[in-house]
Amino acid sequence: MKLAKNIPFFDVSTTNEALLTQKCVSNVCKRNWYILGEEVSNFETEFGAYNGALHCVSVANGTDALTLALKAVGARQSDKVVLVANAGFYGSTAVHAVGAEPVYCDVSHVSRNMDPTELGKILENIQAAAVIVTHLYGQASDIESIVALCTANNVPLIEDCAQSHGAIVGDKRVGSFGSVGCFSFYPTKNLGGIGDGGAVITNDDTVAQKLRQLRQYGWDGKYNVAVHGGQNSRLDEIQAAILRKKLPRLDTWNQERRHVAQTYTSALSPLVVCPTVTDESVAHLYVIQTEHRDGLKASLASAGIATDIHYPIPDHHQPAYSSSAVLPHTEELAKSCLSLPCYPGMPVEHVERVIDHIREYFSNL
Ligand SMILES: *Cc1c(COP(=O)(O)O)cnc(C)c1O
Repeated sequence: MKLAKNIPFFDVSTTNEALLTQKCVSNVCKRNWYILGEEVSNFETEFGAYNGALHCVSVANGTDALTLALKAVGARQSDKVVLVANAGFYGSTAVHAVGAEPVYCDVSHVSRNMDPTELGKILENIQAAAVIVTHLYGQASDIESIVALCTANNVPLIEDCAQSHGAIVGDKRVGSFGSVGCFSFYPTKNLGGIGDGGAVITNDDTVAQKLRQLRQYGWDGKYNVAVHGGQNSRLDEIQAAILRKKLPRLDTWNQERRHVAQTYTSALSPLVVCPTVTDESVAHLYVIQTEHRDGLKASLASAGIATDIHYPIPDHHQPAYSSSAVLPHTEELAKSCLSLPCYPGMPVEHVERVIDHIREYFSNL
């Protein structure tokens, strides 16, 4: 394979290559059954089992997964939902979709995930309808402390695992600690389709049944609308067939991501703030922090190396919504974070070129 001159931020050619030889799409085309068929129900069984959850309900995308999860745990108009403000507004979109009010919790500047001490203070002062905890960049948050706080305050916990498919804490996968775990299968995610997709996992029979109704107009069967707040949010058979082919390879791909991330951290930690890449994390994004972020980004771009910022505008500063939240660590992260290319199948030569370029940039400062 000839190496591309420019280094892309993300490339699915390795992970989609295997699919080209598969007949999964043509099989679906021939079957004459395109929505909620055998591929979807088999994928739900397989993805639930992979995560150690009793139920998996697939939906149209990750934002719908969060929205339906909020509805299923009973969050309603004017309720308060606690979440972080550094995770791309997806959770906030879901909170606004149910008419609830986001209450933002700052993150730890080390883990860049929800700070349990801050969450504890918030839960002492308000009655929350739910907490959404995001396992950002593929690193699990301090889930055991957060579960303990939610249990003590009797608040349902929703885990946003859209960046952490397969990440482990102790002997369990993320998504199986809270009341529900939400996933996206957007093409760039650790497990991604060739279009939109999402899923919710839970061990709660009642929540699972409610999710199945909510994703299909609120029906308990044709054409009886049994629950309030129904939507049309279904994974389609083609995406399910593709995700079924990819799921058995997820752990290998996560290992490849981790390897790229570990290579970056050992080379770059003298120069910039690097994440600690544990064997349990899944390196969805490799995010460094430096006060020279904008200069470094421009310099990498001029060398044909794509980077991105996750995320430049914290949720509480988004222009369409107002918020008076004060979140110093979240602000600091938005100003200093930079995501380097990191994906399964990324050529070693490319990883090395990124490292060399960053070393050169700092030696010329
Ligand atoms: C991608 C993402 C989502 C939303 O997923 P979509 O399928 O794009 O709706 C939610 N939360 C996080 C943390 C994400 O990264």
